[in-house]
Amino acid sequence: MNVGGIPLGGDNPIRLQSMTSTSTMDTTGSVGQTLRIVEAGGEYVRLTTQGVREAENLRNINAELRGKGCNVPLVADVHFNAAVADVAATVAEKVRINPGNYVDPGRKFKHIEYTDEEYADEIKKIEARFVPFLNICKENNTAIRIGVNHGSLSDRIMSRYGDTPEGMVESCMEFLRICVKENFMDVVISIKASNTVVMVRTVRLLVDVMEKENMSFPIHLGVTEEGDGEDGRIKSAAGIGALLCDGLGDTIRVSLSEEPEEEIPVGKKLRDYVLQRNGHLYIPAEESNKYDYLRPTRRETVAAGNIGGNNLPVVISSGMPGCPKIDTEKCDLMPDYIYCGGQMPETTIEGISYIVDVTSWNGAPNTYPAFSTYGESANMLPFMGMCKAPLKFLFATYVTMTEEVRACLKLHPEVVVISQSNHQNRLGEHRALIHDMMNNNLKNPVIVFQHYGDTDMEDLQIKSAADMGALCIDGFVDGIYLHAPKDMTSTAYGILQATRLRTTRTEYISCPGCGRTLYNLQETLKKIREATGHLKGLKIAVMGCIVNGPGEMADADYGYVGAAAGKVSLYRRKECVEKNIPAEEAVERLIELIESDMK
Ligand code: SF4
Repeated sequence: MNVGGIPLGGDNPIRLQSMTSTSTMDTTGSVGQTLRIVEAGGEYVRLTTQGVREAENLRNINAELRGKGCNVPLVADVHFNAAVADVAATVAEKVRINPGNYVDPGRKFKHIEYTDEEYADEIKKIEARFVPFLNICKENNTAIRIGVNHGSLSDRIMSRYGDTPEGMVESCMEFLRICVKENFMDVVISIKASNTVVMVRTVRLLVDVMEKENMSFPIHLGVTEEGDGEDGRIKSAAGIGALLCDGLGDTIRVSLSEEPEEEIPVGKKLRDYVLQRNGHLYIPAEESNKYDYLRPTRRETVAAGNIGGNNLPVVISSGMPGCPKIDTEKCDLMPDYIYCGGQMPETTIEGISYIVDVTSWNGAPNTYPAFSTYGESANMLPFMGMCKAPLKFLFATYVTMTEEVRACLKLHPEVVVISQSNHQNRLGEHRALIHDMMNNNLKNPVIVFQHYGDTDMEDLQIKSAADMGALCIDGFVDGIYLHAPKDMTSTAYGILQATRLRTTRTEYISCPGCGRTLYNLQETLKKIREATGHLKGLKIAVMGCIVNGPGEMADADYGYVGAAAGKVSLYRRKECVEKNIPAEEAVERLIELIESDMK
């Protein structure tokens, strides 16, 4: 499809984009930020366009950018006002509309009963308003994005489909069918959620539904309200990475609560890392019919010790000589197990179990032996039955899953497989091993091992989350073992939290900020983090504005939402419990609210 001078979809590169956080009425500020995004490698820049004034001012921003030799396509982000989209379509290269509020009114969380005729009438109303907009886009060569957000589905869709991937997909398909009928094909689609599991499942379902209706529109990938720092990077890489690894996605936006230009290098690293596996050697494997790609559930396993079955996935860290030491003073999260290689641990940390190569294991309490399907230790496999440990580990690769290994696993339910891969497409090989186990009815738990040589923590977070995201979301992971020159314990827990498998920290659902933001988002998020970091398991939303914030903070337990200049409203789930309080008092009042609920 055509978007200004930068085509999208098909064989074109996966495009990187970001969104300004300036007011779109601030021409100088918006131009400056756009230039910084472009300099960082951004290929499209989106600007919030809340009214006709902002849509008109895109003309000035556009002119100033072109005057400076910058031809980046501008994308107008429109919510709640179809008339604004009409104006924006005459100025911007692309207009994003949200099907949840384009014609349907903003969400009031009301249940509305429709007969089939009434529902069809509503679709006709959308068509009557949408077609003139498409005509303006056709006249001006303007592309569109149909951007569905989990948090802003209309009451109409929610009433008929509920808060489901099917509802999000239908919300998008209603608009796509009109585009096809009108022969308007410059369309990209997005389906975003702050919950990576919902986002990945919904995009997969959308692609499936589109294919059934002979559509192949390009896809924009993003996780909303990702937060900042390590959590934001891990959440983006796990969600967006899972879909890129599936071969889905034509443009990506990593939305961090940081400066917009900081999103681009993160997106670039993620994209380039996933693309490294292009052209990899074929992995001959058979997909298990027990696995449903569109609606994956956790693989059925029998617990071995505290691993698999209904247990939460565990974290293993490396404790071989030369590995980074786990700082028990500083770390708030300890691994469940430490793998020591061929040496029994000299000292142990209370509460942690140790894994030692079987050739060195001496049966000391709280230590467990590790066997292997390859190398010298493979000779020990026939003696597994003689080893009396209640829990054993087996390092295995897909290619070493022989009949002998399968028979051994069948005989020994106390064995946990640690899946390893050196393949160019590690994800594919881990998947192949797990499908092989499913096909052979092996219920031993699987821990996925990944190793990295990088020393930069951001690289490690992005790569490991991209490698693990799809496996976690597919329900294949009973534990994670990340090995690198840096201690990866915190990252492993971050991946489990980002994929909703194990919660060990407070989760922050914070919007990236845009021209509607009513306070200093980054500073406020920092203050809230400092004050609430100990409240593990709670989801706290920090949203820049009341227009989209309450809808888009999805399943947060508490919300801190900009209500007006200098004013904040506090939410308990979807309910506003304190309105328009002065911003200076708002963080304290949020803590008081949470503490009083906890009494
Ligand atoms: S919640 Fe409001 S301020 Fe934050 S990104 Fe969305 S529209 Fe912008």
